[in-house]
Amino acid sequence: MKTNAVLLILLSVLNLSTTMAQEKVKQTAGREQLGTFAPQFAELNDDVLFGQVWSRTDRLGLRDRSLVTLTALISQGLTDSSLLYHLQTARQNGITRTEISEIITHIAFYAGWPKAWAAFRMAKDVWTDDVAADDARAAFQREMIFPVGEPNTAYARYFTGRSYLAPVSSEQVSFVNVTFEPGCRNNWHIHHAAEGGGQMLVCVAGRGWYQEADKPARALRPGDVVHISAGVKHWHGAAADSWFAHLAFEIAGRDVSNEWLEPVSDEEYARLADK
Ligand code: MN
Repeated sequence: MKTNAVLLILLSVLNLSTTMAQEKVKQTAGREQLGTFAPQFAELNDDVLFGQVWSRTDRLGLRDRSLVTLTALISQGLTDSSLLYHLQTARQNGITRTEISEIITHIAFYAGWPKAWAAFRMAKDVWTDDVAADDARAAFQREMIFPVGEPNTAYARYFTGRSYLAPVSSEQVSFVNVTFEPGCRNNWHIHHAAEGGGQMLVCVAGRGWYQEADKPARALRPGDVVHISAGVKHWHGAAADSWFAHLAFEIAGRDVSNEWLEPVSDEEYARLADK
């Protein structure tokens, strides 16, 4: 009863209008762990609970589903591998370190103090490298005169890894500073224009890469300038072992638009380090 009440409260305060593209959640844990012992349970777990319910992201997004699931598990005092799995999933679904701290503190009042303690012990380990990432971001900021800015949530779906955006100028020539965490890069993309257009990058800190389709990647250092003509398929991002930032200037043109394409695969990206 108590769990249901918490769920109802949670559901009512969640932003249910968040719309996300429908994406199928793939789950194989049931079959892997119980496939021969309990085939029907495994099928319900993988194909119904995850394959259908979790996958209805057009009705309730993955982040919200993670929030509800965590509340239900923590309220029961479950601190086994299923809570660990759902904490890890929640992090992947966009729940930040600050948010999980607030969520568990909130649950503590409704579900019980010791349950929150137990959940915190697990959550601390799941979000542990976020503390490291915060420290690393602060260190990178100290070596760069332009701001790192805010998490790049607007374009996150066109990036592999985490990036940040800081508007620097919005008059005369407007441009932003884009910061990439180590290993982060944007998808292959094309800046289209009927006339003029394209993009210019001015590297300001760290080390990164720029690559055009069917050409070798170019290593980037602070001070490097990259001129990208309209219509050229390319990507840009950080080196695997370094933060990276560049100013990005969208060049004026007629009928300009951006076309986002496939991600730079891990295999493709890993090959750069050998060069
Ligand atoms: Mn570009």
